[in-house]
Amino acid sequence: MNDPPRRADRSWWLEEVLAFDPGAPCPPLAGDLDADVVILGGGYTGLWTAHFLKDREPGLDIVVLEQDICGGGPSGRNGGFLNGWWSELDELVDRLGVGQALAVCRTASDSVREIGLWCERHGVDAWYTHAGDVGVATSPAQDGEWRSNLRRAQRLGFREQYVELTAAQVRERCDTPLARGGLFTPDAATVQPARLARGLRRVVLEQGVRIFEGTPVERFRAGPPAVAGTAGGMVRARQAVVALNAWASHWKAFRRWLAVRGTYMVITAPAPEKLEQIRWTGGEGVWNFRSAVHYLRTTRDGRIAFGAGGMQPKAARRIGPAFQYDERFVRQVAEDLWRWFPSFRDVPLEAAWGGPVDVSGHHLPFFGSLPSGNVHYGLGYTGNGVGPCHLGGKILARLVLGVEDELTRLPLVTMEPMRFPPEPILSPGLLVANGAILRKDRAEDRGRKPNPLVAAAAKIPRNVFGYNLGP
Ligand SMILES: Cc1cc2nc3c(=O)[nH]c(=O)nc-3n(C[C@H](O)[C@H](O)[C@H](O)COP(=O)(O)OP(=O)(O)OC[C@H]3O[C@@H](n4cnc5c(N)ncnc54)[C@H](O)[C@@H]3O)c2cc1C
Repeated sequence: MNDPPRRADRSWWLEEVLAFDPGAPCPPLAGDLDADVVILGGGYTGLWTAHFLKDREPGLDIVVLEQDICGGGPSGRNGGFLNGWWSELDELVDRLGVGQALAVCRTASDSVREIGLWCERHGVDAWYTHAGDVGVATSPAQDGEWRSNLRRAQRLGFREQYVELTAAQVRERCDTPLARGGLFTPDAATVQPARLARGLRRVVLEQGVRIFEGTPVERFRAGPPAVAGTAGGMVRARQAVVALNAWASHWKAFRRWLAVRGTYMVITAPAPEKLEQIRWTGGEGVWNFRSAVHYLRTTRDGRIAFGAGGMQPKAARRIGPAFQYDERFVRQVAEDLWRWFPSFRDVPLEAAWGGPVDVSGHHLPFFGSLPSGNVHYGLGYTGNGVGPCHLGGKILARLVLGVEDELTRLPLVTMEPMRFPPEPILSPGLLVANGAILRKDRAEDRGRKPNPLVAAAAKIPRNVFGYNLGP
């Protein structure tokens, strides 16, 4: 490849939806105001929270403050995989016990279905496609990676959540020369992520929520009342919700619970005839069992959108422009796409972009309230937020309203998030471990055994610290 793919600062998904529907204007905050609830961050978490709050209490005065446009963050830039946690059942049972693990998986599954119904009800055409997803082993090191999950699910009587596939069966759904076998999970969907984010924005505006875009929150005091200060004015509210994803890692209160990584995507030009040739016409999401996962899906107009996780631009202490686009990583992602599908080498790549991921030690999001009692947070989705943010919005609405029920009793709320080491240990430590994970994955992609030192360094997060990260 000579030239790298075009840098799409807003992501191809956002460009697609903004071109025909820029939405009602939401100018920056100018002046001070009072509200019942101020929500920091206009991604899925913030917008679902606003939506569920208005559903329950239409009279609430809710303000959303977003530094960019709603969906300008990962909610409008992601792969659009809408799934729950069935693929992590085994780990969840080990960590939480059977009852809680199943409760978490079931509630996450509800979101997969409910988002589709919500789109229908509100006329949001988010390309919702409930076709399941396929986890594929693409190197010998990944062979059978799904088996302990499958055995556990079978013992618990959840056979219908998984279908084991041979290499030939994978290739019937998506013909890649890398396929060595895999697992089909029917309970998963895909969406055009920015259409979902912008659709949510439209619906909450119709519900009477006040949104201020281009409004970074520069100062915050928990109070009560909570006060969010911006260049144009301040919002004073009885309660506040922090829905800032990876940006919350800049806050002292959340710093020890989050590590930040990057993930990058490329998208091809439409090539429906090539998708026919590789038999990938069923709309399934596809991913593999690398530690730095590949995730790939098709679009309505016959493109492949292909992403890779687990990247880290430098020490990643601040969320800067390298998270939106990093030429080295984007080139790697393109090469990986072509290894999966050699016949796509001559299909132009139309755009590339990336975004930050708020990694939690448990690999699960966490929800709760700061000691002041009036500031609630939902963070740590670890690259799996499209479905879980919907659940997160339901939980956060309950925390704001003081409602206790089965959702606020989930371990996502009651379990203490794992702590990461403080700076200056965290960033360099992650850089080393992450580099080792990527090198290990690359060696295994080529069918080689990684250097033993690299393999050992890649396992440090899990084996030494007990994080659910890496191999
Ligand atoms: C490239 C990529 C691919 C991904 N693929 C998938 C996938 O396929 N499936 C999946 O489930 N998950 C995926 N994810 C993760 C998923 O996108 C996130 O978990 C989810 O969007 C999180 O939503 P959120 O509302 O919590 O955060 P965000 O969407 O990031 O919203 C937070 C908002 O806060 C705003 N903000 C930050 N600081 C301030 C401030 N000081 N003042 C005001 N506003 C501020 C940001 O601009 C942002 O819009 C992916 C992520 C990326 C980056």
